[in-house]
Amino acid sequence: MKEITILGSTGSIGVNTLVVISQHPDKFNVKALTANTNIDVFLKQCIQYKPEYAVMVNEDCASKLEERLKKDAPEVSVLTGIDGLLTVAELDDVDYVMAAIVGAAGLLPTLGAAKKGKRILLANKEALVMSGKLFMDTVIENNAELIPIDSEHNAIFQCTSAANASSISNIMLTASGGPFLNTPLRELSSKTPKQAYKHPKWEMGRKISVDSATMMNKGLEVIEASWLFNVKNEAIKVLIHPQSIIHSLVEYKDGSVLAQLGNPDMRIPIAYGLAWPDRIETHVQRLDLLDIAHLEFKEAEAARFPCIQLAREALKQGGTSCAILNAANEVAVNEFLNKRIKFTDISIIIESVMSDITHNSTNTLDAILSDDAWARDKAEEIIRDKVL
Ligand code: NAD
Ligand code: MG
Repeated sequence: MKEITILGSTGSIGVNTLVVISQHPDKFNVKALTANTNIDVFLKQCIQYKPEYAVMVNEDCASKLEERLKKDAPEVSVLTGIDGLLTVAELDDVDYVMAAIVGAAGLLPTLGAAKKGKRILLANKEALVMSGKLFMDTVIENNAELIPIDSEHNAIFQCTSAANASSISNIMLTASGGPFLNTPLRELSSKTPKQAYKHPKWEMGRKISVDSATMMNKGLEVIEASWLFNVKNEAIKVLIHPQSIIHSLVEYKDGSVLAQLGNPDMRIPIAYGLAWPDRIETHVQRLDLLDIAHLEFKEAEAARFPCIQLAREALKQGGTSCAILNAANEVAVNEFLNKRIKFTDISIIIESVMSDITHNSTNTLDAILSDDAWARDKAEEIIRDKVL
């Protein structure tokens, strides 16, 4: 029986993780759940799964949750704040930590799980993008297991399990292209948040859905892949594949190309991460290749998706540039969702913040956190002063 902490259990990945776990009650037990502010969903999860700990990061919400749990699940201990997140990520008797908080807020608890040598099921790509080498070093030094849950990286992990790293010549990350793949470029600036987060293939949280529309998601995934698989920027290709059947491919020196295929359903990579090196049933709809008949591919146009190039540039710069890119993107996406800026302003803001980077050679945790804060202030200043 494996004891599990789910960081971000009320989100799209968190909910899917609970679905897979509840299909295998003989294998997994929910030790702790965490959420930010969504009390209604969190309360139901606490009553159904009766974790030992429930962390509601927001303090007011935590007090309300405690009150409401008194009747139905008084045995659940309610914790709050970042301290609560760190506690449940680092518990001695937790085996697996699902890192499914969105954005930079997931960095410290995910790093905490790495320090304690847990198996980390990494959905929270922003944590790795921000901290890169620091995160990978922490994983190695503490014998943690890092299993990517992002579907592309999970696919590559599956395709490289028997490989010698030096035999890989290229990684090809597939991308659906998001909702605006075929939108005339002049219409992009008037796209609304609702149109941007309506993803054609995947049901995901709002931030990653907007990232998919700008394709910053793929940019973050290029950075993520470079750290996970120790592959250079130039050897990571992006390939648009609107059907989202092939989740990524690896080309080897001898010309062989391995790919992982499946219907687009996050329960597959989640189950893989939970069961690895075994496999478990997911009840996901099986792939019918005769029904699909044709697989389509397309190049990602630079003019439509400038965020991919911005991410590659940050990766090339190294230091804290990826943390700065990520922070500027988080602010810009949030402002777009709040209808304060246009869709096309997102990449302009990130580029403008990045053009002000002056010092970024180290990437200690302190440097990462302080440059993250600097980039957020800078992005907000650009929006406030309307220098767009
Ligand atoms: P989501 O918005 O649906 O859920 C986010 C979760 O994080 C929620 O439980 C929320 O309570 C929690 N959270 C938000 N802000 C927080 C804060 N400040 N402090 C603590 N907790 C906070 O997001 P999602 O779609 O489930 O994505 C989660 C992560 O997984 C993201 O990093 C995303 O890039 C990655 N991911 C998601 C998918 C997907 O299919 N949804 C696929 C690949 C990768
Ligand atoms: Mg992905």
